Amino acid sequence: MAKTAEKPKTESHQFQAEVAKLLQLMVHSVYSDRDVFLRELISNAADALDKLRYEAIAAPALLEEAPLLNIAITPDKAAKTLTIADSGIGMGEDELIDNLGTIAKSGTQAFVEKAGQGVNLIGQFGVGFYSAFIVANRVEVTSRKAGTDDSFTWASEGLGTFTVMPAEKGPRGTAIVLHLKDDALEFLEGWKIEQVVRAYSDHIGHPIMLAEGSEAPKQINTANAIWTRPKSEVTAEQHKEFFGHVSGSYSDPAMTIHYRAEGRHEYTVLLYVPAERPFDLYDPERRGRQKLYVKRVYIADDAELLPPYLRFVRGVIDSEDMPLNLSREMLQHNPQVAAIRKAVTNKVLGEIKKFSESDAEKFLKMWEIFGPVIKEGLYEDFEHRDQLFAFARFRSTKNASVTLKDYVAGLKENQTAIYYLAGEDAVKAAASPQLEGYKARDVEVLLFVDPVDSFWVRTAMGFDGKPFKSVTQGTADLDLIAVKDAPPKSEVKESATAKLIVAMKESLGDKVKDVRSSTRLTDSAVCLVADGELDRTLEKLLARQKDSGVNVSAPVLEINAGHPLIVVLAAAADGGASSPELADAAQLLLDQAHVLEGEPVDDPAGFSRRMANVLTRAFARQ
Ligand code: ADP
Ligand code: MG
Repeated sequence: MAKTAEKPKTESHQFQAEVAKLLQLMVHSVYSDRDVFLRELISNAADALDKLRYEAIAAPALLEEAPLLNIAITPDKAAKTLTIADSGIGMGEDELIDNLGTIAKSGTQAFVEKAGQGVNLIGQFGVGFYSAFIVANRVEVTSRKAGTDDSFTWASEGLGTFTVMPAEKGPRGTAIVLHLKDDALEFLEGWKIEQVVRAYSDHIGHPIMLAEGSEAPKQINTANAIWTRPKSEVTAEQHKEFFGHVSGSYSDPAMTIHYRAEGRHEYTVLLYVPAERPFDLYDPERRGRQKLYVKRVYIADDAELLPPYLRFVRGVIDSEDMPLNLSREMLQHNPQVAAIRKAVTNKVLGEIKKFSESDAEKFLKMWEIFGPVIKEGLYEDFEHRDQLFAFARFRSTKNASVTLKDYVAGLKENQTAIYYLAGEDAVKAAASPQLEGYKARDVEVLLFVDPVDSFWVRTAMGFDGKPFKSVTQGTADLDLIAVKDAPPKSEVKESATAKLIVAMKESLGDKVKDVRSSTRLTDSAVCLVADGELDRTLEKLLARQKDSGVNVSAPVLEINAGHPLIVVLAAAADGGASSPELADAAQLLLDQAHVLEGEPVDDPAGFSRRMANVLTRAFARQ
């Protein structure tokens, strides 16, 4: 049988569902800032060159066939195509299918939901490649992976499917051909390309060449690593551009930290604190993403150069004296990395403190976004706790924002503790009945409304020698602190209150751990407090986590002996009132206390029956 010439086989593939959705957004986009596609494709090309340079440290042969590492942009007006080519690491057949057909990172769904807000999020979500379809109605990617002989072409119109087929052997690396939409032909103009590159990609550490028509290719970026330049020579615009590259964001950074460390280890640091909340700030998979370079060679972006509670800080650290051939796996245990991590962490915390002192308003904005994350350090990193306390801000009953130092400066006579109330919502927390006794004494109480607060406060020993004390836990030790404008004390018959307490305990049974007379109440009749190991807010937080093994325990019900309602109930108990009526009252008081905590009453039907009974009796007597 005659052998027929083998035709290269074209395989058709479906995009992952999320990608298909994303592409629809891109294809139909009416984004005004379409320029981003070029930044994203150049950024991918630069990554590919960085990866090759890193691989070539161990395998120099990879570089030999084409030692030049660069990015070439070629507009073709006749064909209406724009080609972005790099001589980087390249992709094999499987990588083309995986990398350009699926999205590896989590949070894609979140992106699709947020995409209406504009393309600003593309870079942050790691979906940059697909932005090609903002300007192109067909994209062809031809790639040859370094060290292999086979080229493949990936092609798609961005409509649900793509194809991959073998191609003639081409140069190492990747060439992306964009067939531009008719409304995107401006990207064929040299000046336009130069303008976009200057705005977003000037800092890329590899030459970006523009090859227009028959002219000789010319370099259109400066291609020197921005962090190596003297601090005074880097402009705010250049920082913004580079920050955009390392963070995927398009805004100005809130803080820039740029310095050179000399001494035992030499390295350059250029780090930024974003001004906006990254979408994945609380993604459990999110790690610090500071890029580690060694003598300008990119090594890794997961070397954990800063602790997890500083994971929002972005940028690069470039070491002068680390060995280049360090494997990524060894970075975790490398003593030099550990020393750098320690020093840079100190520096960043020091800079944040300075920032808090020099521009309180801007600092507060930053603290609002990142404070809850930074506070994780209060229990994860004892070594730096005092440094964190130095700039940490808290909400309180008196201030929208207060430092611990200022809190302690305002302690009342005989006040020995830093009081706090943990809650889930600032407004509700501020209205808690447990605060009344403190307000009456003009004692400031910190309002801890970030979940993380309940955790660090348990391990923190205190501040400036003063322990932290929850106002909803244990007995209130307020007796020694003078009341500001003491209202005339109503007559309280203590033996009657004691009888009421006995009657209430009896009817409430194990729904409460105890019933007792309160010093923390002035206006409300009742409140709940915890008596065990855990504050009630923390107990509730833990109980919601499946594996914590914590259940919400019975609270202590505190009653305000001076409150008119308690006074009449006590008199009734003293006079031998019928126990069903007192039992209803006791249960209603407990229900009320739960409601004040923002909790549901545990027997709504019983609650409404008792309420109806009480109201009926009240009006029947009139
Ligand atoms: P991200 O760059 O955040 O990973 P992208 O959507 O921009 O997301 O790119 C997806 C993946 O495709 C990259 O991680 C990379 O593996 C691969 N890729 C894209 N462009 C290139 C290129 N020019 N050379 C090699 N690989 C590339
Ligand atoms: Mg990318």
